[in-house]
Amino acid sequence: MATDEEGVVGAKPLLDLHGVDQNLVEKMAFDSLVWSSLHGLVVGDRTAQRSGKVPGVGMVHAPFSLLPMSFPENQFNMACEVAPIFNELVDRVSLDGKFLQDSLSRTKKVDAFTARLLDIHSKMLEINKKEDIRLGLHRSDYMLDEQTKLLLQIELNTISSSFSGLSGLVTELHRSLLIHYGEQLGLDSRKIPGNTAVSQFAEALAKAWTEYNNPRAVVMVVVQTEEQIDTEGELLPDGTLLVGGQEIAVVYFRAGYTPTDYPSESEWRARLLMEQSSAVKCPSISYHLAGTKKIQQELAKPNVLERFLDNKEEIAKVRKCFAGLWSLDDSEIISQAMERPELYVMKPQREGGGNNIYGEDVRETLLRLRKEGTEEDAAYILMQRIFPSVSPTFLMRDGICHKDHAISELGIYGAYLRSKEKVIVNEQCGYLMRTKVASSNEGGVAAGFAVLDSIYLT
Ligand code: ADP
Ligand code: MG
Ligand code: MG
Repeated sequence: MATDEEGVVGAKPLLDLHGVDQNLVEKMAFDSLVWSSLHGLVVGDRTAQRSGKVPGVGMVHAPFSLLPMSFPENQFNMACEVAPIFNELVDRVSLDGKFLQDSLSRTKKVDAFTARLLDIHSKMLEINKKEDIRLGLHRSDYMLDEQTKLLLQIELNTISSSFSGLSGLVTELHRSLLIHYGEQLGLDSRKIPGNTAVSQFAEALAKAWTEYNNPRAVVMVVVQTEEQIDTEGELLPDGTLLVGGQEIAVVYFRAGYTPTDYPSESEWRARLLMEQSSAVKCPSISYHLAGTKKIQQELAKPNVLERFLDNKEEIAKVRKCFAGLWSLDDSEIISQAMERPELYVMKPQREGGGNNIYGEDVRETLLRLRKEGTEEDAAYILMQRIFPSVSPTFLMRDGICHKDHAISELGIYGAYLRSKEKVIVNEQCGYLMRTKVASSNEGGVAAGFAVLDSIYLT
């Protein structure tokens, strides 16, 4: 087996996969599947009929990579360092209602979903609603651009930041494999950084509950359509939110970020009801809007970060993560994007993967928008396409190990809790590595293109 002395250098692959003994791969793949079953690294199995209906029935291991992906330590440290700054930035932006409304005003005209969110936000501005306790559980995603060696932000998620639970398990799985097979592979399990995202998120939720200061109140997790909340929810004159007679201290949104989460008016009424209440919302409507792609693009304009952050060094660190971001009213960039569409990604104001436009479709969409001459262009932003280095990887899905060329996206979780002037939590909490087949544009784990991964510091 051929590995270089350090395991990896820079962005080179962790292992020379051609050199890895096939028997060893099979042994590790088997062990990793057993480990997943024993430790709950599992998801619902779509092929099983009763999956999701009967607890404990119809589960399959989550898709994961067999070995961790190499990642430069200095870049990882940088991403961790900026996490608290991004947390603070979201909080500051959330307090500037006019900035949110103005920045999204053109989008509002053409994007019905964003318009509904903005309507709720406007209502809160009208009644001068104040959120004294503010909780953010974010995930800032990055790709390491191979050519420039810059770690560039893909997006900042402020709602339903996913995989804080499973990502830590994949870290543990990889550590366990390297403890057993590291010597044969020439890899050291201690080079995989710890990943306590899930416990840190839980702690932040618990602290928000403590701040609310009513031992009888509960944390409510909104999982699917909010119909029940509309029926059973009640707002008392003092702002207390009751659902089914229970007082709610904290609302955590695991849903509500995509139009399909609002199949009827009932869900919108529920969202408004929760927003009007004094329950801590994770996220509040302002935090939610602060995480939109349009706001990301506005923040990247010259002198905008300076409106929200004071410290020059912090501003410089954040700005260094920004890729090229443009609105579609910039005619020069439109011409360039039509000429070289492969260098850009076009993004609507959506979450959850599978919504972006790439390659030839960018040109076609831009041409269509120009021809139609409507304001639909305001629904999108344009972003510089980032090209991470490609490395051969073992991907595990449905119990089968595939070898393929893959690229990775690093997510850094951040938790923020504030009560009036007091910052109670502002920290980086663990990470998520997702690795996807290099030939796919989008990389949803749930969508079936990407796998969960961890990192091996080099
Ligand atoms: P979502 O909120 O739907 O997750 P993202 O902005 O994260 O939207 O885009 C989805 C996926 O598209 C990312 O996970 C990444 O794989 C790919 N992607 C997004 N922006 C870029 C970019 N600028 N360069 C390369 N790939 C990108
Ligand atoms: Mg997102
Ligand atoms: Mg994303």
